[in-house]
Amino acid sequence: MTTSSAPAPAAPQSSRARPHVVIVGSGFGGLFAAQRLRNADVDVTIIGKTSHHLFQPLLYQVATGILSEGEIAPATREILRRQENARVVLGEVTDIDLAARTVTSHVLGRTTVHSYDELIVAAGAGQSYFGNDRFAEFAPGMKSIDDALELRGRIFGAFELAELADDQAEVDRLMTFVVVGAGPTGVEMAGQIAELAHRTLRKDFRRIDPTTARIILLDAAPKVLPSFGERLGGRARRQLNEMGVEVQLGAMVTDVDADGIEVKDADGQVRRITAATKIWAAGVQASPLGQMLGEQSGAEVDRAGRISVQPDLTLPGHPEVHVVGDMMSLDKLPGVAQVAIQGGRYAADAIKRRLAGKPPAGPFHYFDKGSMATISRFSAVADIGKFKFGGFIAWMLWLVVHLMYIVGFKSRVTTVFHWLISFLGRGRSQRVATQQQVYGRLALEHLGPHFEASKTGGLKTEPDNEDVTGRESA
Ligand SMILES: Cc1cc2nc3c(=O)[nH]c(=O)nc-3n(C[C@H](O)[C@H](O)[C@H](O)COP(=O)(O)OP(=O)(O)OC[C@H]3O[C@@H](n4cnc5c(N)ncnc54)[C@H](O)[C@@H]3O)c2cc1C
Repeated sequence: MTTSSAPAPAAPQSSRARPHVVIVGSGFGGLFAAQRLRNADVDVTIIGKTSHHLFQPLLYQVATGILSEGEIAPATREILRRQENARVVLGEVTDIDLAARTVTSHVLGRTTVHSYDELIVAAGAGQSYFGNDRFAEFAPGMKSIDDALELRGRIFGAFELAELADDQAEVDRLMTFVVVGAGPTGVEMAGQIAELAHRTLRKDFRRIDPTTARIILLDAAPKVLPSFGERLGGRARRQLNEMGVEVQLGAMVTDVDADGIEVKDADGQVRRITAATKIWAAGVQASPLGQMLGEQSGAEVDRAGRISVQPDLTLPGHPEVHVVGDMMSLDKLPGVAQVAIQGGRYAADAIKRRLAGKPPAGPFHYFDKGSMATISRFSAVADIGKFKFGGFIAWMLWLVVHLMYIVGFKSRVTTVFHWLISFLGRGRSQRVATQQQVYGRLALEHLGPHFEASKTGGLKTEPDNEDVTGRESA
């Protein structure tokens, strides 16, 4: 590995005694691959653009004040501290050169080139606004801790401002929440905002009545939770209605601005919903690294940016490169945590076999363990093989499964504690919202391309202080 603060670092020199496995991404695919290589005779470098591993399925609980960000985002370095063959490196990967077998990452103007013998790319997916990226400013998505904290600030902040407003129309605008996308994330988010308004905040204000908040869940598709089938989707919809969530289906978003959202209904009518808080839970776009790998390997890349992989999750002509998780496209597998976890482990096993001179184990087979979504406290829907059910048992199962996959003993203990506070009581222990959370992203975006460039080392006119090549990053 070579490191430099100059934009164009020297070529890497590999002087390793044993094979070097580089893993891009510390999400489900990357982390589980790294852990699977624990006892392998290899050096592992895991490069992540954040220093934490994020448990995305519980982001909505951070956004609605149930959990703290630390509970769902333990430091990757801490998780792997006992795995001596693994090294954690902070950096955003901006280039992968399949011919030279190098990966280039950047952090705060510092460029690092990593050479590899085996590569696992698990950079996941970001939010897709279907070509309308300008919506992001007014309707944040939910893909990162930054997103969840920004949404927390916007949601709790809307009630605060409503308490101050004199004009009823302004109170109504502030107390209308629109969630776009009726998949599991949208349903969970809408359900939690309803519980927040009706239970947690019920007695906290003097001028406004939080229980009158309007919560709208809308989707261009005609169903709620379409992947769960007609019966469970219908059940979720009825329950959301009972909780006071307005479900509007066949409603396509055509515009979003600071004051509201414009939708076109199935009958072609265009209407406007005035709402201060909009949340985008629709659509994903795979990491741009997929496109880069597609151009170099000839593998197809679909409209969502996912790269087609071979049945063994490698790229054509590159048995040393695996792509796993949300970035890959294979047999229409869904973008869920289990696909990433099983893919990461499969890739690690394939590497171990090859290095041991053993023949490949055969194609990747995904074992579908089912899916679940919560609607409210004490109620969820579960679709597990032949069993499709909802209610309290599904919710208990959801609790146990999520607890199992939260990484780290401390996080599990404090999560249970916070769940007790929120689900048995009416409180939420994480209601802090700072100005940085609410305005930070927008402020950074307004700094423009030069700020972005300073993060990745690009757009520089001259090198920073001359750095010593070979100095290690992060
Ligand atoms: C809000 C939400 C709720 C969800 N709920 C569920 C659920 O209930 N059940 C379920 O099964 N699935 C759920 N999912 C989907 C699940 O989280 C993903 O399928 C899973 O995280 C995919 O794993 P991955 O490793 O491919 O990507 P990720 O877990 O997203 O990890 C990608 C990693 O790559 C890093 N990265 C990205 N680009 C770069 C780069 N250029 N350089 C370096 N690092 C980079 C990221 O920081 C991250 O660490 C949910 C997703 C979201 C967003």
